[in-house]
Amino acid sequence: MLIDIHRHAKDAGAADRVVRNLFHNQTSEIEEDKFYSVGLHPWHVDENTIQEDLKMVEDAASYPQVIAIGETGLDKTIKTSLETQSFAFYAQIDIARKLEKPLIIHCVRAYNEVFTLKINANIKQPWIIHWFNANRQMGEQLTEKGFYLSFGHLLFHDRSKAYHAFPNLPIEKLFFETDDSEYSIDEVYKKAALLKGINWEILQKQIESNFKHCFGLEP
Ligand SMILES: [Zn+2]
Repeated sequence: MLIDIHRHAKDAGAADRVVRNLFHNQTSEIEEDKFYSVGLHPWHVDENTIQEDLKMVEDAASYPQVIAIGETGLDKTIKTSLETQSFAFYAQIDIARKLEKPLIIHCVRAYNEVFTLKINANIKQPWIIHWFNANRQMGEQLTEKGFYLSFGHLLFHDRSKAYHAFPNLPIEKLFFETDDSEYSIDEVYKKAALLKGINWEILQKQIESNFKHCFGLEP
């Protein structure tokens, strides 16, 4: 079974199970028998509409198909201030906490902040950092503290930090994703198996098991 933990497109692509990501204004697309994450993305945080936008996330969050909140997080490469981004992030951390659901995190150059937040607030629900792209030390620090890391097209870029960190990270804390890239999920799994030096069927079984642990659900 191939699991795609973070995908924007409506179709499943090559995956057997997808957690489709919906932005706050796409929640009318939620269907039965599918899995979703719903969140206010840091790129879409707008001071003028933040309360209504968060309300849309909160309304959709309690659907049983919405198995995670996000993507939410912090991005230091955009114009929106970290303060405003943090307001949206904290609000979504609270929603996830109340509903006991994992978070899907969008994190750009803010790994220390995200790490510290989860540890200091003593949050029990898993946080999945999608599109992980930091060094091995950061990857180890995060996975030791219970974070999951999701990898996709960066595994094909041998100059990315993700590519170099990946082989050393614990397999029981990994997920794979297509996000909005041109690589299909079977290509990502095959590349990951190659980089890890393991059979890709064993890798598939492991990710299935990770899914059960992380979400408390059968994929
Ligand atoms: Zn995404």
